[in-house]
Amino acid sequence: MGNVFEDAIARVERIGQEAGVSSEIVSALRQPEITLTASLPVRMDDGTTRYFTAYRCRYNDVRGPAKGGIRYHPGVTLEEVQALALWMTVKCAVAGIPFGGGKGGVIVDPKQLSPLELERLSRAYMRAIADFVGPELDIPAPDVYTNARIMGWMADEYETIKRTKAPGVITGKPIPLGGSLGRDEATGRGAFIVIQELASARGMVPAETRVAIQGFGNAGYHVARLLQKAGYRIVAVSDSKGGIYSAEGFDVEALHQRKQETRTLEAAYCEGSVVEVADHQTISNEDLLELDVDLLIPAALEGVIRPDNAERIRAKVIAEVANGPVVSEADAILRERNVEVLPDVLTNAGGVTVSYFEWVQNRSGFPWTLEEVRSRLEEVLSRSFKDVWRIREHEKTSLRQAAYVLALRRIAEAVESQGTAEYFSNSKGSA
Ligand code: NAD
Repeated sequence: MGNVFEDAIARVERIGQEAGVSSEIVSALRQPEITLTASLPVRMDDGTTRYFTAYRCRYNDVRGPAKGGIRYHPGVTLEEVQALALWMTVKCAVAGIPFGGGKGGVIVDPKQLSPLELERLSRAYMRAIADFVGPELDIPAPDVYTNARIMGWMADEYETIKRTKAPGVITGKPIPLGGSLGRDEATGRGAFIVIQELASARGMVPAETRVAIQGFGNAGYHVARLLQKAGYRIVAVSDSKGGIYSAEGFDVEALHQRKQETRTLEAAYCEGSVVEVADHQTISNEDLLELDVDLLIPAALEGVIRPDNAERIRAKVIAEVANGPVVSEADAILRERNVEVLPDVLTNAGGVTVSYFEWVQNRSGFPWTLEEVRSRLEEVLSRSFKDVWRIREHEKTSLRQAAYVLALRRIAEAVESQGTAEYFSNSKGSA
């Protein structure tokens, strides 16, 4: 794969140009406002000190404080963090929530660290970024291989440094530390809401819809669980170790339980003892993408659907639960082949939406019930889907293009209200 950040910029430029968005707005999105690079010294359990490279990028905050997760992964790069931060900027605008975009990451394989090493790393990360983030400035959250406990450590470190309580500095926290009910399932539930909207717009029947899901982590598991409950057939799932397929479909809860017990999906087929798992066969992550299914859900990492395999995708609909699973060069191939792509900036916006709710609850000091969180999430995402669908129908374009057009217009409105070149050249000095 090429440079993921250049790819993300190329997509904004292409869509901006096709949609007639002013070049001033596209220029504002061509580079991040500010990016911090740090080296985190971490005392390991054996007494040695290791240094981990870390990033935090505040991409654009014209619509509100920057918002975006923190990723722990050995494959993290500066370009990836910047691309993810740009997508967050677009996503918050699509969902219509008053945030800009940011993102963070640490180059680390967290599975190689002990719990104490992980805590020291997480606190070291917050020490490095403490003056760069804040409830009114930039608000991190969990992403790949980070979770509520890690957010709790980071919030505690921030509050220790600032000598104050500031739960709104980070979202996705444990509930007793100011987390929101429903945040854990929010990304999967948001994806489910958007998929249901698409199903009703396209006349898809759940019982006749076979689904393959790449990535069975936080986002993948919850969307699988909710889809199965609504009658969809989950015929394939995978994680970093590989995948499993069953034409009859899996019992998602049984798989999840098995994965929790063994820490990997592989065990579900290696041991062959999960009675709930019907006849199944082992498949690779690449095979999973090319299965003959109706709905394909990439829910792991970016860049998995590229020009070299886009021709072989057989699903009629792809719901991008991961960020950036389809590279921009594959967009046109999928469109030519009539594959409908529910874009990441809409499909996985449930996570940031409930993060926004958490921040609102922290600032008002008034926690919401789970029902309130779920119904407001449904309201935001159903409305966002309908906004995007309307543009798709009206402008005869793809859902991705429609979502970007909506976001670019909203960002443009914020930029324009501060004055554009046209305004200043015509105003001759009067406000
Ligand atoms: P997670 O850490 O909970 O799960 C990641 C899953 O991907 C795991 O099952 C892991 O085994 C699997 N995986 C890792 N490498 C893989 C590979 N090479 N091939 C196949 N599977 C692999 O992470 P998550 O929070 O579920 O995030 C998954 C995706 O969703 C990411 O792209 C993330 O940016 C996006 N996302 C997450 C949230 C959120 O709130 N959690 C919000 C928006 C977007």
